[in-house]
Amino acid sequence: MPPFRIGHGYDLHRLEPLEPEGRGRPCVLGGIQFDHPAGPVGHSDGDAVLHAVTDALLGAIGEPDIGQLFPDTDPQHEGQNSVIFLHEAVRRITTRGFRLGNLDITVICERPKIGPRRDEMCTHLASLLGCDRADVNIKGKTHEGVDAVGEGRAIEVHVVVMLVSADADAKDGS
Ligand code: MG
Repeated sequence: MPPFRIGHGYDLHRLEPLEPEGRGRPCVLGGIQFDHPAGPVGHSDGDAVLHAVTDALLGAIGEPDIGQLFPDTDPQHEGQNSVIFLHEAVRRITTRGFRLGNLDITVICERPKIGPRRDEMCTHLASLLGCDRADVNIKGKTHEGVDAVGEGRAIEVHVVVMLVSADADAKDGS
């Protein structure tokens, strides 16, 4: 394998009013809970940020995606904390001799506002991933009021990740 690998992850979850008014689960993004009257509909906890990051890591090493590893038909994953999925992806990249180089995340939604929690999310993600805070970036964007995301009925996340091989680190002396 080359010393660098790039991965892309994407996820979208519908947002509904919180249970019992709707089917929305508490709004958790990147493992951080937001006080918001709507939340994601999903088999697991619906954390779209962790799902997209997990898929980016798995994609970078050409492994099966999150839906293949953790099928939403498996009752074991009902309401599952998505940190479990992330940790499995980290375990797999480590096994293949890679570590995270850097991670860039774009969260698209009208609400909740990402900006005020951005630093907290990056710090928390870095701790979950076992990397430096400086290697994790998150941007919040709106969908300008159009389509389902813009109407607050869904949240969308895009992630790009670069992995570095342990061999490249050794040659670099780092
Ligand atoms: Mg998902």
